[in-house]
Amino acid sequence: MSTRAISGKTKICGVIGDPIEHTMSPVMHNTAFSKLGLDYVYVAFRVKAAELSQAVAGMKALNITGLNVTIPHKVSIIPFLDKLDPLAEKIGAVNTVTNNDGVLTGANTDASGFLQALMDQGVDPAKKRVAILGAGGAARAICFSLAERGAELVILNRKLELDWAEKLAAEISGAFNKEVPALELNEANLAATLVKSELLVNATSVGMIPNPDQTPVPASLLKPGMVVFDAVYNPIQTRLRREAEAIGAKTISGLDMLVWQGALAFEKWTGQKPPFALMQQAAMKVLTGHEK
Ligand code: NAP
Repeated sequence: MSTRAISGKTKICGVIGDPIEHTMSPVMHNTAFSKLGLDYVYVAFRVKAAELSQAVAGMKALNITGLNVTIPHKVSIIPFLDKLDPLAEKIGAVNTVTNNDGVLTGANTDASGFLQALMDQGVDPAKKRVAILGAGGAARAICFSLAERGAELVILNRKLELDWAEKLAAEISGAFNKEVPALELNEANLAATLVKSELLVNATSVGMIPNPDQTPVPASLLKPGMVVFDAVYNPIQTRLRREAEAIGAKTISGLDMLVWQGALAFEKWTGQKPPFALMQQAAMKVLTGHEK
């Protein structure tokens, strides 16, 4: 690991969450700061839920330039911020805070990063029919960014928590004045939905390590003409993406979403164009365990 000179002028960015040790954000951001010769440093802070308000007050008091926010603080941080950007306000969750002269503004670059990951691969979801699997935190950001772009959504979640999907679908219907069905995630509903879908998004944790042999969709239901986006990034190549690619479907990795959420935060804090490819390489190095 290289060391950069920290000076009296060095600006501080970071991430708050609990747990936080496994975050890839410090590697991505510090690599980008070094490459662009920016006098910034990015560190991880473990912040317990009960100490969130003090942490946000500390951000102001210490004049920290920017913070990413991860589990469990993405929703509970909102009352402590001064402003929200419109998409973060609709979603009701924040993953990026920018400090402009003591005014803290919350944004959701999970949502904008997801959209950027699609657009960057030439996939514009506007007016497309999209099946989203899952109704947790990732699905929420993804559904709002798709709805805002004008996609037609169907949300599928397992029976156990179907009410989560129904609640999310109702919120999106209300916010964007469009019909959003919520269905149980089973083979019959998948078959009926996927036959009409141009984009499939897996926002469940199915296929994630330690269960990389699992997939949320039987291979027989995938179609060559569809785009398959898997929010799971660990492993980078999931079984779902492997099976979709095998039949000729285009796929996009959750790693692109992860890196874009960081890259868009980087741009807010520094005003510089983020070095996406470099940040992606840095994240991949960590994921594949080849970090020196
Ligand atoms: P979460 O809030 O805990 O939600 C998990 C979702 O997965 C829920 O909808 C849950 O359904 C579903 N699920 C879990 N096990 C399942 C199973 N066996 N069968 C069917 N559905 C199942 O988690 P999250 O934060 O949304 O994360 C979901 C995935 O997205 C994780 O793999 C995470 O690493 C990834 N992610 C990626 C990014 C990125 O930038 N690429 C960002 C955030 C998250 P129930 O409601 O029924 O429990």
